[in-house]
Amino acid sequence: MKTRYLFLIVLTGLLIFMPACKTQTSTKTHDAYKTLIITGQNNHEWKISSPILKQILDETGLFSTEIIKTPDKGGDMNLFNPDFSKYRLLVLDYNGDTWSDKTKKGFVDFVSNGGGLVIYHAANNSFPEWKEFNEMTGLGGWGNRSQKDGPYVYYKNNQLVTDTTAGNGGSHGKRREFLVVTRINDHPIMKGLPVRWLHGTDELYSQLRGPARNLQILTTAFADSAAGGGTMRDEPILMTITYGKGRIFHTVMGHADEGGGPAMQCAGFITTFQRGAEWAVTGNVTQTVPFDFPTAAGVVLRKDFKEKTIDEALAEFGTYDIGKSTLNLTCLQNYIRSLSGDKAGLLSIEKKMVSILDNKESTLEAKKLLLRELSWMGSSYSVPSIKKLTSEAELKDEAEFAIARLQSAN
Ligand code: ZN
Repeated sequence: MKTRYLFLIVLTGLLIFMPACKTQTSTKTHDAYKTLIITGQNNHEWKISSPILKQILDETGLFSTEIIKTPDKGGDMNLFNPDFSKYRLLVLDYNGDTWSDKTKKGFVDFVSNGGGLVIYHAANNSFPEWKEFNEMTGLGGWGNRSQKDGPYVYYKNNQLVTDTTAGNGGSHGKRREFLVVTRINDHPIMKGLPVRWLHGTDELYSQLRGPARNLQILTTAFADSAAGGGTMRDEPILMTITYGKGRIFHTVMGHADEGGGPAMQCAGFITTFQRGAEWAVTGNVTQTVPFDFPTAAGVVLRKDFKEKTIDEALAEFGTYDIGKSTLNLTCLQNYIRSLSGDKAGLLSIEKKMVSILDNKESTLEAKKLLLRELSWMGSSYSVPSIKKLTSEAELKDEAEFAIARLQSAN
């Protein structure tokens, strides 16, 4: 019964989560979108975050990114006067002194004339007195924001709430992993992503408030008070806003620690950032969903911010044990799903799986997981290797179950 139950879990997973696979790098059909990351002042480690954001964007092959720094805090902001019109996308990793009127006008003109903008994490804390900026971010926090700046917006009991109650804008509880839930499935940024996935340890921004005009909340996360301070509301995590002809993607995720930390290394943060940035430029998303995108079952961290390849995942798979990360299993399952209908591809991955099964060094738990996967996706190719395992007491049940399934399917 136990194995049958596991099989049902696998099937259920198959039905709710069928991503495409990023098996090759994007083919460039146009010049990369010229992108400018604006930083130089922040209450966060912008010297860590901005180069990582540049890497994340440039990795897609879609963007060609430069970083510009404002003068230091208290410096002469008249010296900060970039020509925004040279770019297709601006990314704001900035929370600091107010810009000159000329620069502010250039920024507003850029977006209202159709330029793309990404608001990243604490950038939504900045410029509390700048009306147009707050309209572009939709919701913001801190900086003495209160009811004068607009309502709180959140979900409660699955209903979108616009709450004009008096109070400060912006808070977060203790850092933690949290479950991100999709609210608009058919938005180009969200298409193909799982409806629920676990984000790496981060601040869960809450109680944001602002004009909230032309705002769509793509995902939320529940700010559970039991998990270290929270509002008991489903707070906005990813948002889009339109301003004039411009599109804005707003992510509250990504608090930067040494090396980026789990909030920036999270494959969910990285992927949604890449997709949101493309949408802000074109209104569309051409990137496929990477096969290491996290699920509700576990966080996926990319230490080097790059998508894991299936061969890297498989090389580690044989050492799996109870209590270890199931990332490589998730990668394998997503990869298999991406091959749906591709017989040659499926046989190729099946051969790799069987070689792990045949390897005496592979752990018992790795073999159990492989038997479960092979039971539904394998072919007669697997049967001889699985038959051998029926003589091992600890694998007998799983092996016999897999053979019975394979024989009835093939
Ligand atoms: Zn932060």
